[in-house]
Amino acid sequence: MDEGSPAPGTKCVFCDIVARRAPAWIVYEDSTTVAFLDIFPFTRGHLLVIPKRHGARLTDIPFEDQMALVRTLDEVCRRAERLAPDYNVALNAGAWAGQIVFHVHFHVIPRYGESNPFRAGHRPPLSEPEARAVVAELANP
Ligand code: 5GP
Ligand code: ZN
Repeated sequence: MDEGSPAPGTKCVFCDIVARRAPAWIVYEDSTTVAFLDIFPFTRGHLLVIPKRHGARLTDIPFEDQMALVRTLDEVCRRAERLAPDYNVALNAGAWAGQIVFHVHFHVIPRYGESNPFRAGHRPPLSEPEARAVVAELANP
């Protein structure tokens, strides 16, 4: 398997977003990383921060990519603070940890006082008006 690519014959939706084969509400992009809105946000402005090069989990990607990812995480957290001063950062590694998309990503989840944003209850899909409003707040440096 090529380093930085999903296994042959395996579809990776986040690689598709990086390659613009799939749509996403992107709020940040540089040469090695991308941040975009989660399509099933736990809260308004729920973001995902990913490396462009594929790897299932943090320990699968080169150290330089890990560093670039954390640099972008810092930038995205600063922008998320425009929405709410409090937020969660989460990384699920492996199916038993709740990982569904096997392309490493940090979640940045603004908190507005909900009791438990991680509960598996009501999680409506991202609406276009909300996506436009959040991107307008976060996409500029
Ligand atoms: P995990 O459980 O793997 O840590 O989280 C994967 C996240 O990716 C979930 O919160 C899910 O809503 C989100 N997600 C899954 N498919 C897509 C997609 O095609 N586009 C976007 N923007 N988010 C996705
Ligand atoms: Zn991928």
